[in-house]
Amino acid sequence: MKKLSLSDVKVVDVHAHPYVAGEEEETPASFLRKLSLSVIPDMFTDVGDLEENQPYPGSNMWVQILLRNMSKYLSCEEDLVSIVEARNEKAKDFSKYTKELFQDVNLEGLIMDFGYPQPPLDRKEYEVMSGSRVWEIVRIEQVLTSLGSKGLHFEEFIEQYRSQLTEALKKKEVVGLKTIIAYRSGLEVFEMNKEDAEREYEDFSKNGRAVAKAFRDYCFHIAMEECTTANKFMHIHTGIGDGEVVLPKASPSFLLDTLRQEKYKDTKVHLVHGGYPWVEEAAFIVSILPNVYLDISLQNPFTGHGVERIISQVLELAPFDKVMYGSDAFTVPEMNWMGAKLFKESFERVLNTWIEKDYMSYEKAKYIGEMILYRNFGKTYGVKI
Ligand SMILES: [Zn+2]
Repeated sequence: MKKLSLSDVKVVDVHAHPYVAGEEEETPASFLRKLSLSVIPDMFTDVGDLEENQPYPGSNMWVQILLRNMSKYLSCEEDLVSIVEARNEKAKDFSKYTKELFQDVNLEGLIMDFGYPQPPLDRKEYEVMSGSRVWEIVRIEQVLTSLGSKGLHFEEFIEQYRSQLTEALKKKEVVGLKTIIAYRSGLEVFEMNKEDAEREYEDFSKNGRAVAKAFRDYCFHIAMEECTTANKFMHIHTGIGDGEVVLPKASPSFLLDTLRQEKYKDTKVHLVHGGYPWVEEAAFIVSILPNVYLDISLQNPFTGHGVERIISQVLELAPFDKVMYGSDAFTVPEMNWMGAKLFKESFERVLNTWIEKDYMSYEKAKYIGEMILYRNFGKTYGVKI
């Protein structure tokens, strides 16, 4: 039987973050820290004195897979010291190194969330540095906090908030808005209640990170309305994230009541991170709502060997045209690279099983692979790729 390979297929990463070209050399500990989802600075301060074959303290399968792949790519020993030394050497020309890594996996474009890191980096600069096309999503929480400190009256605040979203969505390179409400008050968004929102606006204007649920819910609906009018995407963070997430209210199932409202039936929604670990809930939601999509970012590549299981699980229910590739890479280009590489390898194994079981032909499996890696993005976002 002919084995299917996706290695030559182009990729668009529909969820990633920019980072600055590394001017300083990484140390083994700093590199390890950059690979981690932990934002707690005390993680990985020292890689320790290790016995042979002992994994680095705090490292997991994702790190193991990355290091092994990097040692092959860089033709060096599989220990962190040798790997970091070899990558530092290459990263002296950071742009060249990034371009080589991106080309190695045919990564041709990315939707980037410029809400992290802060202060925001420049889209054009990242595009030039990486040699890839970059589309942007605008985080509503950034707009909220910057307006919140101005001491405006509620009415005035809302008016300016809305007009800033309208303006942002007019930009060609901006493909949508994003909300991280899952990090603040959770995904159980209630109907608009102006009175409560106005009352809680007081708390919010004093503290941009306040829960202020009624206020945030009110602003969430405005963002949904603006995306509907502009016919652009509302990206909603779902599932786990960094340590701040409101985990008990992060499952995409909390969104269902909101998303199936009549007024949002034409709103394009992109569930960021596909709700991991509640991927089946997310898969169900995209299977019943015509304009809701999901990406497999963060869980890919950070669950390592789990990526294969997740792809298979998501595709138990999710239509093939509702799923897109993503990485959530946020610190170093090796993350973007490993994200694409690991996803392709894992997806190949899933597709080859389907061919073996005679669920589909080789050609159809290949097409499905292309859909999730770039075709769905091109089609839903109206971009020629
Ligand atoms: Zn992200």
